[in-house]
Amino acid sequence: MVKIVEASTEIYPLNNLADVCTHIEKCGRTCYKSENLITNETAIPFISGILKSGHESVIEHANVIFTMPNIEKNHPILTMKDVRGLNISVENDPLIQKEVIVVSGNIRAFRDIARQYGVHDFLTVIGNPLFYIKADAAPLFEGIKLESVQSSRFSAMHNYLTTHSVCDLGAYKDITRHRLASFSIESTRYCNYSKGKFGSELTVINPCNIEKNTPMYDEWFKCMEMIEKAYMKMAEMGGKGDQLRMLLPHSIKADMIMSANIVEWRHVFSLRCHSAAHPSVRLVMKMMLEKFYQIFPDFFADQYETFIKNQ
Ligand SMILES: Cc1cc2nc3c(=O)[nH]c(=O)nc-3n(C[C@H](O)[C@H](O)[C@H](O)COP(=O)(O)OP(=O)(O)OC[C@H]3O[C@@H](n4cnc5c(N)ncnc54)[C@H](O)[C@@H]3O)c2cc1C
Repeated sequence: MVKIVEASTEIYPLNNLADVCTHIEKCGRTCYKSENLITNETAIPFISGILKSGHESVIEHANVIFTMPNIEKNHPILTMKDVRGLNISVENDPLIQKEVIVVSGNIRAFRDIARQYGVHDFLTVIGNPLFYIKADAAPLFEGIKLESVQSSRFSAMHNYLTTHSVCDLGAYKDITRHRLASFSIESTRYCNYSKGKFGSELTVINPCNIEKNTPMYDEWFKCMEMIEKAYMKMAEMGGKGDQLRMLLPHSIKADMIMSANIVEWRHVFSLRCHSAAHPSVRLVMKMMLEKFYQIFPDFFADQYETFIKNQ
């Protein structure tokens, strides 16, 4: 029987460099719904496997923030802003009351700057050979300091948040249009809902824009049941994930991991918490905004006021 669940969101925190690999594994396994396989020893083989297969978007969920002295030798980094996922600025460091160059980004971006510009310095400071492009590269810059992972005392572009949402396919179809964010989503190809692991049933999100106990809701539910019946029948006939997914409706539930810096999150909220956005997208994004506001009230106070408090 079709299972109906409510949409939800949570923040996936990452506080220490030592947790980068387990964070990436947790995010990446969402695609295959294989979180149950996680043990203390699985992160490194999992990440090695995804790097070998070229599925590098998964390593975009871990961000690292560095500073370096604002000296001439380090200025070439300021010309390398075209690397996607990398953010570079000159800012006043409130701790030392001095201008520094702040460089932050996800692990994929640091691998790309190594490939594109031969800058291996940041990967060397991160110090995990798993991510190296060239292990014995000579440093190009001076005084690079690893500040933190994910959040920092610097501006919005150097603060990142990773979230896990349970939402419908329609919602993630809209949300994944945001190109400056990173995503890992439960695969409708690799997850075969006819298998016992998924309870041999389809899970759908309760449609927030169709009122319960109305003829329209009953019609929606009847259709979900018909789809499930056909899905299981095709699976019995030997249908593979690639074939079965042709039946899946916009209401099907998916797990979505989304990471971005605060500049992009604010842009996403401005479009997706707005009344012009689809109600199922708005629901998820407003839940996120509420959580973000608790962590970073200064960055989100105005949007919280507009989209939550005054609505
Ligand atoms: C109410 C609503 C209705 C929509 N309807 C449709 C629809 O009918 N059909 C449809 O196809 N889409 C639709 N969309 C999606 C929309 O067109 C965008 O693709 C989506 O909202 C992503 O936002 P974005 O492009 O502003 O920013 P993001 O992709 O989040 O990027 C952030 C910012 O980076 C910059 N940027 C990123 N990539 C580039 C680039 N390649 N070139 C230049 N600047 C860039 C821009 O300044 C952009 O604002 C709709 C969106 C909304 C909110």
